[in-house]
Amino acid sequence: ARQNTVDDKAIVKEYFNATGFDRWRRIYGQGEVNKVQNDIRIGHQQTIDTVIEWLQADGNLAQISICDAGCGVGSLSIPLADAGARVYASDISEKMVGEAQEKAQAILKNTNNLSFAVEDLEALRGKYHTVICLDVLIHYPQEDAAQMIGHLASLAESRLILSFAPKTFFLSILKKIGEFFPGPSKTTRAYQHKESDIIKILEENGFAIKRTGMTSTRFYFSRILEAVKP
Ligand code: SAM
Repeated sequence: ARQNTVDDKAIVKEYFNATGFDRWRRIYGQGEVNKVQNDIRIGHQQTIDTVIEWLQADGNLAQISICDAGCGVGSLSIPLADAGARVYASDISEKMVGEAQEKAQAILKNTNNLSFAVEDLEALRGKYHTVICLDVLIHYPQEDAAQMIGHLASLAESRLILSFAPKTFFLSILKKIGEFFPGPSKTTRAYQHKESDIIKILEENGFAIKRTGMTSTRFYFSRILEAVKP
């Protein structure tokens, strides 16, 4: 499984530095996109908004450190930094990180509490109050996801928030979705995960589920779990 992870990672990294970068920068941006991409854009924004609402509701954003692992173009990191959190954003793709940095410079008045790094999430070190990893596990099969969650759990002092494509939907529906589940020519695969498997992994790492969310649009599905240390 570990050797496969190395291969999966190399493929994912290459994808998000090339065609995947162009595709996802558009989806996560504001310009014109096609209908499917627009649906995914809306769904993804709902996932981001759910997490921001949870953290805002706790009322302690300005006091906590957040590790956003696989930050993409900064869709979550930038608003969290804007809300006063100390944010450590990282991504395996230098193109994604570059775009996130440019966006942060353009949007934020002050970027002192936001730092960026090009890093595989399994190479991250340090301790953070909250570790968040949204829509990244979809790129990895079950055994690899378990290792990754284990590593992220070791960085989290009190909370870990994950989102993933749940395995409860018929693969046939999802397979139709060329944009979200690209075929071989688009170079990455998409993996769905069973919620019970993910919960088991979180519990094995000493976390308990607190809040849960689910984003479903026509072409985008993301289960969101907040796990806390009791
Ligand atoms: N979390 C962001 C969001 O929700 O806006 C981005 C989601 S995007 C679908 C997946 C991101 O995960 C890409 O930017 C990709 O480069 C990153 N990624 C994939 N594997 C990774 C790894 N092993 N370590 C860090 N980032 C990774």
